[in-house]
Amino acid sequence: MDNRVGYVVYHRKYSRLQKFIMAIAVIFIILPSVLCVILFDRMNKMQSQIDELAAAGRQDSLAGQAEDEDDGMDGALYNESDDTQALKDASDIKHSMSSDVIRDEDRYHGARVYLTFDDGPSDNTDAILDKLGEYGVKATFFVVMKEDEASVERYKRIVNEGHTLAMHSASHVYSQIYSSYDAYTEDVNQLRSYLKSVTQVTPVYYRFPGGSSNTVSSVPMSECIEYLDSQGIIYYDWNVASGDTDKAYVSSSTIAANVIKGVEGKQSSVVLMHDTNKKTTTVDALDSILKYMSDTGKNVLPITEGTTPVHHRISDAK
Ligand SMILES: [Zn+2]
Repeated sequence: MDNRVGYVVYHRKYSRLQKFIMAIAVIFIILPSVLCVILFDRMNKMQSQIDELAAAGRQDSLAGQAEDEDDGMDGALYNESDDTQALKDASDIKHSMSSDVIRDEDRYHGARVYLTFDDGPSDNTDAILDKLGEYGVKATFFVVMKEDEASVERYKRIVNEGHTLAMHSASHVYSQIYSSYDAYTEDVNQLRSYLKSVTQVTPVYYRFPGGSSNTVSSVPMSECIEYLDSQGIIYYDWNVASGDTDKAYVSSSTIAANVIKGVEGKQSSVVLMHDTNKKTTTVDALDSILKYMSDTGKNVLPITEGTTPVHHRISDAK
């Protein structure tokens, strides 16, 4: 195209050689420049996707590291190079629910946001529950096993106030939980019976320590998932990371901004947050987060039988 334009305009003035040079210039300078711009744009888009996936994949394992002093978590086993596991969006997963269950997507108009709190209960549980109560919304707590009196009261409060009490791990020590198939099933069963004895409710929702895409497990994750299936337990990963465990200290404004950015444009967001003693800024961020959800008309919901799971891609190492 440019060759012909050049020819029409310049054919009288320039010799063949000059035209040849012009053509070469077009081919070797302009075309590559255009290609560069296109490729650069594509690269940027892919990079932002990678960042998003990496952020989502990293969260829960770092949570373990941050809590090391509290519960002896072995976060060091985690392989960060595998962070960029692809996420499947909720819409990709067709969960086998009985047909008489009304799905959340049919029940609610507008976007749905499922706030989830891992690793509790903690000294912050009550403040989280107070804030959720203030906004009249329910959330999901993926808890660990704690037998002290205050924790027992917190499990009960979660249930009594209509939130979803869900399982995370009895010990939350990766090196134990994932050391063998028997150790894995024991951890799940121990927590399940404990929560039932405390609250009289048998929990059916579950989140893997490190997420289902963790690469620390000696047990193939497909076997863990099969076990959960056999027990009627439904697991949930997440597709929005609050980033509250990215570092030892993350400001409440950063957490709120991460969540708000994460839920934008999604019909269904499962948001990963943490309920641990140190994560006071997570509590502080809730006000901005809940105000935003309310202002933008998003439904803040607990995970229930009508909720389509979000699953990460499992690595099935070993
Ligand atoms: Zn955890």
